[in-house]
Amino acid sequence: MLTPATIREAPKALLHDHLDGGLRPATIVDLAREHRYRDLPTEDADDLAAWIRRGADRKSLELYLDTFRHTVGVMQHRDAIERVAAEAVEDLGADGVVYAEIRFAPELSVEQGLTPDEVVEAMLEGLRVGMDRAAAAGHPIVARALVTAMRQAARSMEIAELAVRWRDAGVVGFDIAGPESGYRPTRHLDAFEFVRRENFHVTIHAGESFGLPSIWEAIQLCGAERLGHGVRIVDDITVREDGHVALGRLSSFVRDRRVPLELCPTSNVHTGATASIADHPIDLLRRLRFRVTVNTDNRLMSGVTLSSEFEALDATFGLGLGEMEWLTINALKSAFVPFDERIRLIAEVVKPGYARLRAREAAVVS
Ligand SMILES: [Zn+2]
Repeated sequence: MLTPATIREAPKALLHDHLDGGLRPATIVDLAREHRYRDLPTEDADDLAAWIRRGADRKSLELYLDTFRHTVGVMQHRDAIERVAAEAVEDLGADGVVYAEIRFAPELSVEQGLTPDEVVEAMLEGLRVGMDRAAAAGHPIVARALVTAMRQAARSMEIAELAVRWRDAGVVGFDIAGPESGYRPTRHLDAFEFVRRENFHVTIHAGESFGLPSIWEAIQLCGAERLGHGVRIVDDITVREDGHVALGRLSSFVRDRRVPLELCPTSNVHTGATASIADHPIDLLRRLRFRVTVNTDNRLMSGVTLSSEFEALDATFGLGLGEMEWLTINALKSAFVPFDERIRLIAEVVKPGYARLRAREAAVVS
């Protein structure tokens, strides 16, 4: 089994992490005081973290999403958004993440008068500050933003235009998130078509709490290049008792076209999408060589880091360094930054990093 220190040191890439799902508990308390947000259930950071985690682990996507009221509640000002973004990047850097796409829905931070453009600007400034601080601390990281529209709202076209407007300043793609049941991706078809006409990137939360029709719409009608979660693709895979595996048309397409799956194991356990890590389809999907990536989703709500997710997977399925490197390269191949930047990270950071760790393990064994 890999040690926690080795997993933390190993270079990792993260494609699916929500800005409003990764705040430091102490920062929520600070920001609530500064901006006179009075709805927190407690002002003790540890109690607050425990309260939020309890709230998230109720086996329902809708109840899980309910815990974001307070994180979003303290993210209504420029300085707050900047601080949260900077700290997210610092925390990811310290966890050994070398590339991260952090996503946020600007429409959630406009309650106190900010415009969506101001929200994006503050987030990008925070990412820059965070990258500077992480580099200074010896943990260089490339952090980019995804702009998310809420699927239950009706602002997706405006948000898609916003994402494209900021593409040269650090936004690398467009996403929709929120309750899946009853809000199929095609509700926002015009937004996706706009983004595609602009040659910009699309990932869609689909196949998390809802099944194959949502995945099919996301890929075939909305042009999703990646699937946020996409874990229900297993509903289109049959494993017989003799071990024979049969893929349906949609799962074959997803595997053949190398559609990346942004899997978030612990989050899926908390929302009830899967019963436990041991039952998580990630093991089957990686053995079938789908383009699997490992992600945190919401570090605060789920009480995880990318390293702890890899620790859980290594403990349950025995990943080892080889599989961890494969999953990391999968993520970088699927990243929305330009091709030359992806290649640079794989060749100059990830491969040498894993080679170093393997050499060290070999030295310990011999
Ligand atoms: Zn998500």
